[in-house]
Amino acid sequence: MRLHVTYSGGTIGMVDSPEGLRPGADLQGWFESQLEGIELASNISMSTLDPLIDSSEATPEDWQAIIDDINAHAGEADAFLVLHGTDTMAYSAAALSYALANLGKPVVLTGSQYPLGVVGSDASANVTGALRAAISPHAQGVMLFFGHKLLAGNRATKTSSWAFRGFESPSVSPLARTGAPWRWYGPPHPGTGWQDPSPYTRQDVAVIDVVPGISAARLRAMTTPHPAALILRTFGVGNIPASEPGLVDVLDVLAHADVPIIVASQCYQAEVMLGHYEAGNALAKLGAVGAHDMTLEALYAKTVFLLSQDKRGADFATYMGSSIAGELTLQD
Ligand code: ASP
Repeated sequence: MRLHVTYSGGTIGMVDSPEGLRPGADLQGWFESQLEGIELASNISMSTLDPLIDSSEATPEDWQAIIDDINAHAGEADAFLVLHGTDTMAYSAAALSYALANLGKPVVLTGSQYPLGVVGSDASANVTGALRAAISPHAQGVMLFFGHKLLAGNRATKTSSWAFRGFESPSVSPLARTGAPWRWYGPPHPGTGWQDPSPYTRQDVAVIDVVPGISAARLRAMTTPHPAALILRTFGVGNIPASEPGLVDVLDVLAHADVPIIVASQCYQAEVMLGHYEAGNALAKLGAVGAHDMTLEALYAKTVFLLSQDKRGADFATYMGSSIAGELTLQD
């Protein structure tokens, strides 16, 4: 078993500075010390991305840099570990899941709430757990290991800015939990995969939360000029205040301008069902696409992915509603 590690940044390798935490720890030396005496140690390679970033600075180009590094080592490694900041780790995990859907080798992302040098840090438990997950025969697809849980990468969301159990997958069970032995809960949801994806590029995607009292003028201002796609975070199963004067008209103008409108829910755990209520029916009539049970992270990364593949119109809607890498549950 050969493992390749991509170190992209994050708290895990940060040190204190007068301006706050910034990358600078000897992560490679620390990583080697974690593996002392383990047979696998001699079969591990590591790339350090340049620059190392706080993941809140990550863009689709940074997702692509990780994907490029993994693809560059796909010939010689059997499994991959990505060390990443926690803030946008779920976005990157989802992004990797689409672009690497046909890789056929496991990829595990992890990071930590405390830097590796702090007494009581969660860095060691997370990295060694992620490593164990990556080399397991059960490992499949892109996963995220954190706080003793292994989650499908495109189902995960950061739920705490401080807890060691900082991630959950609200709509599906974890893939595994640590213990002696680990408990595995079955394979991730299936997906169709993606042949030869084009690289991620930045896309002008608007993500808007509907709130009680939102006006048509505000929504119009937030979508002017028109974005390449709109993710509308609505109430419950996909409801908006459709009786608010002019609100649906703003969305109608977008739909007629071929701007894909994807309807998500603000609920932590959701299944979008357009047309279930009169309040959501207006969106269905406009040809908006429901996000099913996708997390915002999976949905945003998928929107950027499909736009980067030049998918528009009916094609975009079809792919959005189908599972590329297990990111959504298709109800029978
Ligand atoms: N701001 C950091 C990052 O996402 C937080 C962390 O890694 O925990 O890079």
